[in-house]
Amino acid sequence: MKVLVINCGSSSLKYQLIDSDSEAVLAKGLCERITIDGSVLTHSPAGKDKVIIEQPMPDHTAAVKLVLNQLTDSVHGVITSLSEIGAVGHRVVHGGEKFASSTLITDKVIAAIEECNDLAPLHNPANLIGIHACEECMPGVPMVAVFDTAFHQTMPKQAYLYGLPYEYYEKDKVRRYGFHGTSHSFVSKRAIELLKLDRNNSKVIVCHLGNGASICAVKNGESVDTSMGLTPLEGLIMGTRSGDIDPAIIDYIAKKEGLSLDEVMNVLNKKSGVAGLSKVSSDFRDLAEAAESGNELAETTLKVYAYHVAKYIGAYVAAMNGVDAICFTAGVGENNSQVRSMICEYLGYLGIVMDEEANKVRGEELMLSTQDSKVKVMVIPTNEELAIARETVALVK
Ligand code: AMP
Repeated sequence: MKVLVINCGSSSLKYQLIDSDSEAVLAKGLCERITIDGSVLTHSPAGKDKVIIEQPMPDHTAAVKLVLNQLTDSVHGVITSLSEIGAVGHRVVHGGEKFASSTLITDKVIAAIEECNDLAPLHNPANLIGIHACEECMPGVPMVAVFDTAFHQTMPKQAYLYGLPYEYYEKDKVRRYGFHGTSHSFVSKRAIELLKLDRNNSKVIVCHLGNGASICAVKNGESVDTSMGLTPLEGLIMGTRSGDIDPAIIDYIAKKEGLSLDEVMNVLNKKSGVAGLSKVSSDFRDLAEAAESGNELAETTLKVYAYHVAKYIGAYVAAMNGVDAICFTAGVGENNSQVRSMICEYLGYLGIVMDEEANKVRGEELMLSTQDSKVKVMVIPTNEELAIARETVALVK
């Protein structure tokens, strides 16, 4: 079956057409600046030249139509008719406590996703727009919602409750939800498979280190704790997000700098993280370059970053009373051997022995620890689109 995977943002739409039998990507692309001037579609069909189409996309339906036209185009297309698309899988950011797994989209499901809008006001409405646009352009084609939060719904109360008045949980659903669930699920499953672990007796820690970053403790195949919380701001230091801070800093900065609450939140989301700390960039390639050329603040930033990841690993070893494997994934985790090495320097107490030669490789599945290392350390490239396609097929077949 051919599955169209859609990841819809407020002004962008990423897509992949995946053949679920061979798991090959037939085409992928990105619509940018939807609803604003200068809309552009970049379409990359497998084995053919990339095309860039600058054409107004006044709404997401126009964007979906343009994508479908390209997929079936006689020159740039990869299918002859839309009837070849058997299902559509949508990434949906927040499923609250309503969705513990992926689900076939119905009117009821759409209403339930809408009820989670408050929890992800920037993302869920955009995801819903993508669902409606696809319904309009491909009526009758089954669609599935795959939630970033669903994998973490197995967390026990002690992991998801905050030390706040309980009524905020009861009334307002304030709790840890966690994100990147599709990635944590995909990578932990693959680790269990590669290491031939008994799923029901396995302990895996997944470090998803990209521009957004989170870490997850996966016990017996289920998420038991994760670093992102009510929103994706909590936890590790990220590209531009602060991660964990003393909550009193918000009030302190607001008063010191004369900023409104919204402005401070903007600083925490967009101007902090390694970008804010280093004054260089949110991109780890720039950071590494700066550190190498003697920029002390960039070097310190890398140290702070690695230290925070190592602290979380320690916490999750404690939460699971042990660990079999630690996996690195996403842009930084897959490609940045220096950061991996800096993190693993803290982990000798686990009996980890790193194979520094293997650690020089990047971007592919690999074992970073030696054969006699007590705990295995691996790189497992994430593939959220493939995970969404697999979930979609499982529900529509
Ligand atoms: P993601 O959000 O998963 O796309 O990850 C983005 C981050 O991955 C950025 O900070 C990049 O610097 C980092 N990254 C991507 N490719 C490389 C690479 N080849 N070497 C080092 N870092 C990389």
